[in-house]
Amino acid sequence: MSVIESYLAGCWQAGTGAGSPLVNPVTGTTLAHASSAGLDLTASLHHARTVGGPALRALTFAERGTLLDALAKAIYSVRDELLEVSMANTGVTRSDAKFDIDGGTATLSAYAAIGRGLGNATFLTDGDIEQLGRSPRFAGRHIRVPLRGVAIHINAFNFPIWGLAEKLACAFLAGMPVLCKPATSTALPTWRAAKAMTDSGLLPAGSFSLLVGSVGSLLDHVGPQDVVAFTGSADTGAKIRTHPAVVRSSVRLNIEADSLNAVVVAPDVQPGSACFDLFLRELVREMTQKSGQKCTATRRVILPTNLVEPVVAALRERLLPEYLPKPPTDPSARMGALATPSQGVDVLDRARAIAQHCDLVVGSLPAEPTTLVAPCVMLARDSSAAELHELEAFGPFVILFPCDGSVAAAADLVARGGGTLVTTVYSDDIDYAARCVEAMAPWTGRLLLGSARIAEFSTGPGLVLPNMAHGGPGRAGGGLELGGLRGLNLYMQTCAVQGARPVLERLFPVAQ
Ligand code: NAP
Repeated sequence: MSVIESYLAGCWQAGTGAGSPLVNPVTGTTLAHASSAGLDLTASLHHARTVGGPALRALTFAERGTLLDALAKAIYSVRDELLEVSMANTGVTRSDAKFDIDGGTATLSAYAAIGRGLGNATFLTDGDIEQLGRSPRFAGRHIRVPLRGVAIHINAFNFPIWGLAEKLACAFLAGMPVLCKPATSTALPTWRAAKAMTDSGLLPAGSFSLLVGSVGSLLDHVGPQDVVAFTGSADTGAKIRTHPAVVRSSVRLNIEADSLNAVVVAPDVQPGSACFDLFLRELVREMTQKSGQKCTATRRVILPTNLVEPVVAALRERLLPEYLPKPPTDPSARMGALATPSQGVDVLDRARAIAQHCDLVVGSLPAEPTTLVAPCVMLARDSSAAELHELEAFGPFVILFPCDGSVAAAADLVARGGGTLVTTVYSDDIDYAARCVEAMAPWTGRLLLGSARIAEFSTGPGLVLPNMAHGGPGRAGGGLELGGLRGLNLYMQTCAVQGARPVLERLFPVAQ
């Protein structure tokens, strides 16, 4: 069985030893092995900092944008192969594999357009020149310049292509080289996309590295100009946050962790209305797309007590048997498998713990661990039970929380999740929505206001858009990715430059 290689210091190279197996989560077949043992991580980081960084910083924003566009095309050129590899290594249906691949290339293209818009500059100005004292001659202006280190991207198992592309888009456009470390279990699609990028010959030397296999001692070597952007579990996030080298150098850190995303259905939403249908359509998609293995998937639905019955009836009709899980090779599969065999165990354990506090109202839990898990809706017996707002089962599950329909009660339940990546409010009542914004926005990185007005156009809570911020407070990790230009902040140092106004005007002539 082949060992897939890492791309470090400009060379493809294999780690030593047998490595970890990468398996097909449905058949259990071993597809390849990944090992990072014995690889020279210090030399690789040095190469990225000293060769890749200068090469990227020498490009203008427009040129970095052109590079992102070309990389999107390079990945797209092997799309068919990526679809096959993704289905085999991550258990997803063809349509879910497209979601990951096309989401990734679309994000690269979106940042390419931002780069073109920034033109020939190589760093950003932030705000206008401001007078600082009594004399108009003494002035100041903020600028944002790329950090001189390497951006280390540690990704989760669920989006092997999108995870690679969205983080790289922001770092490259800012002017920082990237070392991408995909989750070992689903590294094959990332590895194939990385091959397409290196084969294209487009990458400036040293600008991109790929580490497959365990993270090893990588973080021991980070320094004050490096960045670590992580997506995965809160436990691993906490380990990275407290890693001695990260703490010692105050390494710039972004964490996207578990999130118990919430949906609030307002009392004005009547069964059969356009808003009710939008809510149901988007809930079914969030439960079943990638088998609910999305960081933005809906986990909690807060709804007025009188809506519980119609919602359960409608979900029963829409979910079963339509979305029974099937191997992705089955052409009738509308929902695939969990991404790894260990997720099959973990997800069932957590779902069982949640079910202790709920009634199962749609579907049932499997008796034994499996990666083929059917959608399941649970009804909370006590909406305030702490476990239901703290335990995340990363699969096709949702919990219904009946409440009195007031904004205060709904906001209290949203907040019990400790911070979400996305919260959605379905209502056609603008006053209700306005009160929700004020009460819930502090607890979430993104707030979707679903209503009849956008029923035709809504992309739903689960789709992360490059021009909208992705991240959330507290439990969601406290990070921020994407959001258009905001996504570059992680990779750039803001510096307040003070001096004589004519000097500042000369140095920074173009307003951005
Ligand atoms: P994980 O164990 O936290 O792994 C995420 C990434 O961190 C992987 O690349 C992993 O590498 C790496 N890693 C592991 N230990 C590390 C360490 N000590 N230092 C630095 N990096 C380390 O998460 P997971 O297994 O992928 O998923 C577990 C849970 O995370 C899920 O059940 C779900 O709750 C949550 N999750 C959240 C998101 C999100 O976007 N918010 C996405 C996916 C999963 P290896 O693979 O080599 O171990």
